[in-house]
Amino acid sequence: MSQIKNAANIGTAAVHHALARGLAPGIGQGLGASHDVVIAGSGPAGLSAALACAELGLSYIVIEKQREFA
Ligand SMILES: Cc1cc2nc3c(=O)[nH]c(=O)nc-3n(C[C@H](O)[C@H](O)[C@H](O)COP(=O)(O)OP(=O)(O)OC[C@H]3O[C@@H](n4cnc5c(N)ncnc54)[C@H](O)[C@@H]3O)c2cc1C
Repeated sequence: MSQIKNAANIGTAAVHHALARGLAPGIGQGLGASHDVVIAGSGPAGLSAALACAELGLSYIVIEKQREFA
């Protein structure tokens, strides 16, 4: 499998892993946070995690240390 594909799968899997352990839409707001999920990095893993969040109704923010997204 390509490394990009593998990274994307890991990003999606990370969100589903958290869901299985209590992550739910709105949980961030309930805890006083601005988002349910904070995603560090806009590479394939981060963007696939963001897509998974969007599909699952989770609010999220992607932060990227570089000036431009990957
Ligand atoms: C030159 C090169 C060519 C490649 N060609 C191929 C190819 O042809 N096919 C293939 O399948 N794979 C290729 N790869 C590998 C592929 O790019 C990686 O496997 C893939 O990008 C990994 O995705 P990732 O999301 O895990 O990490 P990354 O793509 O590295 O993304 C991580 C992001 O997180 C950001 N970040 C890091 N730390 C922080 C922080 N503390 N706060 C905020 N943001 C942060 C980084 O700036 C970066 O944008 C190539 C890699 C390189 C270097």
